[in-house]
Parts: sequence; C-alpha cells; structure tokens
Amino acid sequence: MECNIKRNLSFCNCSYPVCEKKGKCCECLHYHLKRKEVPACFFSKEVEKTYDRSIENFIKHYKG
Ligand code: SF4
Repeated sequence: MECNIKRNLSFCNCSYPVCEKKGKCCECLHYHLKRKEVPACFFSKEVEKTYDRSIENFIKHYKG
C-alpha cells in the first residue's frame, strides 16, 4: 500500500512551516506519541497555532 501524501495534505492543518513529516501521517503520529503528544490535526486551528501538542493540552481543549 502506497502512502497518499497528496490526499493526506488536504486534511493536514499543521501550521509548523518546516516539517518534513507533513503528509506522512504515520511518521507524524509516531513522532508526537513518543513525546507524549498528539499531531496538529487533534487540535482546533487556534490551539494548533500554539504548537503545544501535549496530551494535557489536547484534553484541556477537547470538545466532543
Ligand atoms: S504535527 Fe508535528 S510532525 Fe506532524 S506535520 Fe506538524 S510539526 Fe510535523
């Protein structure tokens, strides 16, 4: 199965300008999980901009 980077990028809300993991969701997820974080797409546009990707920040802002 091939990685569909183009399609993934259409869903990606990450505003961090220089990340080579954009569109490579599996790498992005592993990178952040190792640091007890979650990727940008777990956050709203406003919260994502703070670059605080901690699980605590996710729980704080999550609105089912
Ligand atoms: S969420 Fe993190 S790893 Fe994923 S594209 Fe943005 S900066 Fe890169």
